[in-house]
Amino acid sequence: MITKLCPIDDGSLKEAAEILKGGGVVGMPTETVYGLAASAFDQEAVKSIFAAKGRPGDNPLIVHICREADLYPLIRGEITREQRMLMDAFWPGPMTLIFDKSDRVCPAVTAGLDTVAVRMPSHPGARALIRRSGLPLAAPSANLSGKPSPTTAQRTLEDMDGRIPLILDGGACQVGVESTVIDARHGVAHILRPGGVTPDMVKAALVDVELDKSLMRPLEKGEKAASPGMKYKHYAPKGDMTIYRGDRERVAKAICAAYDQWGDGALILCKTGDMALFGGRHCVDMGESTGDVARNLFDALRDADDMGARRIFATAVEETGVGLAVMNRMARAAAFRIVDV
Ligand code: AMP
Ligand code: MG
Repeated sequence: MITKLCPIDDGSLKEAAEILKGGGVVGMPTETVYGLAASAFDQEAVKSIFAAKGRPGDNPLIVHICREADLYPLIRGEITREQRMLMDAFWPGPMTLIFDKSDRVCPAVTAGLDTVAVRMPSHPGARALIRRSGLPLAAPSANLSGKPSPTTAQRTLEDMDGRIPLILDGGACQVGVESTVIDARHGVAHILRPGGVTPDMVKAALVDVELDKSLMRPLEKGEKAASPGMKYKHYAPKGDMTIYRGDRERVAKAICAAYDQWGDGALILCKTGDMALFGGRHCVDMGESTGDVARNLFDALRDADDMGARRIFATAVEETGVGLAVMNRMARAAAFRIVDV
């Protein structure tokens, strides 16, 4: 199969919508990361997503809609006051809500769960494609399973070349980490996966918030993941990664010492302001702010693979704001190797 990479215009949207209506899979940009989309009502189409990614069948997908009216055919039961407030505050945007599912959502989407995850993206390309297809689109991140999520069309092509017919190029993703997954079916906003909508933003929308207890640690043996995707080794570069956390001068000293044992094949991920602390060692500049680190993280992990990095040393970011999502992803990429100095 030839995979076309197309800028978003009337012609490519029409072609992509036809593919989706015919039961096919399309690569699409969103504000979080690129997704692999198919009709959430078409069991065979959804199975093709799992096949293209090599994704385990027990890891459910998020359904993407472009207007509230399209939520109701997907769900069952009343919307809670808290869900209403969250939808009003953060849709369209990088927030996914869990609902009890209707029978119309095919079982492959939810991996057999009785609940469905729904999001209304803000990316104009994603919205245009959903509108044009007239379908709710089940879409996981567009990476091969286990690899960091793609944040550009080019990275999507690297993983999906020959596996899907078309990728819409909507530029680099603005958020860079996947959506915040929230279960507010029982009132409190229970954050199952941190993302672009931060706990403080949820509180500011006057909804009580609690963090799932497994966000920053590996699951214990036999423990069930509230958000199934979090149980997999995820976002992993090929090289072994370690995160260093603490006072910035001490972090730099510890990283330099570890780096020098490796020399060739070692790579440092740090913010722009810390580059000077590493005395010419090989660094990837992750940007000035934590938001920049979020936007650059997955691409940096993929760059590390391209450079053949065998050891990756990353400086921690503060677990506030979008930093919680960044550290959640970095910790998984590092298989939870975090050194406090
Ligand atoms: P991805 O699209 O690759 O970002 O993965 C979507 C993630 O959303 C899954 O890995 C789950 O962690 C989460 N998710 C999807 N559906 C549900 C659900 N019904 N309940 C809880 N988490 C879900
Ligand atoms: Mg993913």
